[in-house]
Amino acid sequence: MKFLKVNINTAAPRDPEASILLIYTGGTIGMVSDKEDHHLVPFDFSEVIHRVPEIRQFKVMLTVLSLDPPIDSSNVGVEHWVKLAQVIQVNYHEYDGFVILHGTDTMAYSASALSFLLENLGKPVIFTGAQVPIGRMRTDARRNIITALEIASAHRKGRALVPEVSIFFNTVLLRGNRSTKVESRHFNAFHSGKYPQLAKAGIDIEYNNSVILPAPSQSLRIYQELESQVAVMKLFPGINQSLVEAMLKAEGLKGLVLETFGAGNAPTYPWFLKLLREAVDRGITILNVSQCEEGEVHQGQYETSLYLKEMGVIGGSDISTEAAITKMMFVLAQEVPHPEKVRMLEMDLRGEMTLRN
Ligand code: ASP
Repeated sequence: MKFLKVNINTAAPRDPEASILLIYTGGTIGMVSDKEDHHLVPFDFSEVIHRVPEIRQFKVMLTVLSLDPPIDSSNVGVEHWVKLAQVIQVNYHEYDGFVILHGTDTMAYSASALSFLLENLGKPVIFTGAQVPIGRMRTDARRNIITALEIASAHRKGRALVPEVSIFFNTVLLRGNRSTKVESRHFNAFHSGKYPQLAKAGIDIEYNNSVILPAPSQSLRIYQELESQVAVMKLFPGINQSLVEAMLKAEGLKGLVLETFGAGNAPTYPWFLKLLREAVDRGITILNVSQCEEGEVHQGQYETSLYLKEMGVIGGSDISTEAAITKMMFVLAQEVPHPEKVRMLEMDLRGEMTLRN
């Protein structure tokens, strides 16, 4: 996988306010209709930049890297996340901020993964994309790119205003690992129901400073390993025993995110309890997350979650599924003893969950 430096005539103002690395990975934002069969396919980023001439007026030094070839974000994998983290590490001291153009479908997963791979991040890494391709009249791409660039450049007394991985979309800036795609038709595609917005863009961009992560006291550390032997199991009433069994006994499985009902509840069918208990005993790490858009997992509140706690299932508080699966990939790849992995999953590592006593 490689990134190409795109040669575009970007602004190089005499007195730049900031330097930004714009990384184009693909997605609707840069798509055009295929001439033959009319479905949308990604195209070359140098074409895209011609569509946002406003970028050239920006008082920032801009460098553009383009994934070659660009991808639909449904094809994003662990290797793309590691590569993006490496690109940020290599360029970290040269730029004040990073804007990643990415398909919306899996943007919340990618933003969550990057948040775990980049520890002690002191600069903005902002994901954005579009619902309507940049070549169309009513595209939302222009506004999303321009506002993301503005937020990535924003600093006060030499410090970035938003030193974390975030998603800017439509009018809101959200913490990356708190975001979920909720809309496939309208412009307000992302939501973070369990955590406040980091900023709101209207006439001005209003920052909600008290909920933005503080600047780190240590220097950036990147991680390059993620465990891919993980799965998500969404519970539903009437779930079938052979399906649960096949999943829990899948060869090589190391971790499971269990999407439960309400405050972390699951059926108490004897076969279900037995399969879960055996999985935990085989060393499979299970993280309990709620299917609810708001609220949190509270194992032990009901009998239907007490047994989960007793058998060693980890309560995920208000973590989203996107953050839970990527956190699990991250934590299970660490070379630390199992109890330390459990402790990390219970902890708030990058602002991804709220801890309540
Ligand atoms: N399928 C596209 C993608 O995620 C959708 C989008 O960008 O909005 O790459």
